[in-house]
Amino acid sequence: MIFGRKQEMKKISIIVPCYNEEDCLLDFDAKLSEVVGQMGDYEFEVFYIDDGSKDHTLELMRQICKKRDYASYLSFSRNFGKEAAMYAGFCNANGDYVAVMDADLQDPPELLPDMVKFLESGEYDSVATRRINREGEPPIRSLFARMFYKLINKISDADIVDGARDYRLMKKEMADVIVAMGEQNRFSKGIFGWIGFRTYWYAFENVKRAAGETKWSFWKLLKYSMDGIVSFSQVPLSIASWMGMGCTGISLAAIVFIVIRKLIFGDPVQGWASNMCVMIFIGGVQLFCLGVIGQYIGKTYAETKKRPHYIVSECSEGQIKRVG
Ligand code: UDP
Ligand code: MG
Repeated sequence: MIFGRKQEMKKISIIVPCYNEEDCLLDFDAKLSEVVGQMGDYEFEVFYIDDGSKDHTLELMRQICKKRDYASYLSFSRNFGKEAAMYAGFCNANGDYVAVMDADLQDPPELLPDMVKFLESGEYDSVATRRINREGEPPIRSLFARMFYKLINKISDADIVDGARDYRLMKKEMADVIVAMGEQNRFSKGIFGWIGFRTYWYAFENVKRAAGETKWSFWKLLKYSMDGIVSFSQVPLSIASWMGMGCTGISLAAIVFIVIRKLIFGDPVQGWASNMCVMIFIGGVQLFCLGVIGQYIGKTYAETKKRPHYIVSECSEGQIKRVG
């Protein structure tokens, strides 16, 4: 049947996670449709994922999907987080190439034609983007972000580039692997780095949000980075055991010292202050180590429950995986 048929068009799937993006969504759609228009050699499917938005995002998605035949939407039953939204997109995408793109135009759709060229060259399996500056971001956030990237690269196998965005275009083979990594505690930047494949890093100047506000508060980011570390490194557990060993060593030396002192000088009642210091110190170290272990146990607990990553309450027609 293949004889005589024109070479089939390649399909690009685009995943757009959205949470309270009513101010950006129409602009995004307009920009994206321009790019789709320019790339006539490709077929497109765009998945808008409403991550339990509380504004009019879902209504706008319904409108966009009526207008654009390449677009579909799914709406979560509550806010499951960007990671879950991306996962839902990956579970549903079946293009030859799959991209993740933010709805706030910070991941410029106009880079797509260039990115596709790298995949077409056959030398790469994915094209990832990286901001070369962090302009417009609060300085304290940039500082912590830099420290985080340095730390996680030292203590984990996942190769995570500073300034990396989730904006990526990858071959279907790579997207399939991402779906197969069904872990609950998802940290995509780590997953992308951990699975490997040949990746081209596309650098671009940071773009400010088109409208609206970032959904990431400082504390949310801090928690996310902790999750990233727990997901991709067991070094904190080793630190806990090394600290335990260190304390044991110190206490053995202290016991020898105290016993010798008692034998030589007798036992005058004194040393309450130093006693308290040692007790508080050991108590602190123990609580810290318990906390570290607790983090890992908590994650293990979440994994064993095998709850779905997302639940869809409404979607456009078609074969959409409603729970995943
Ligand atoms: N997002 C989401 N669920 C969330 C938070 C964010 O789907 O719980 C989406 C958001 O709508 C946007 C993308 O993830 O399309 C990136 O979010 P944001 O722009 O707030 O992050 P930043 O660019 O500041 O890191
Ligand atoms: Mg953004």
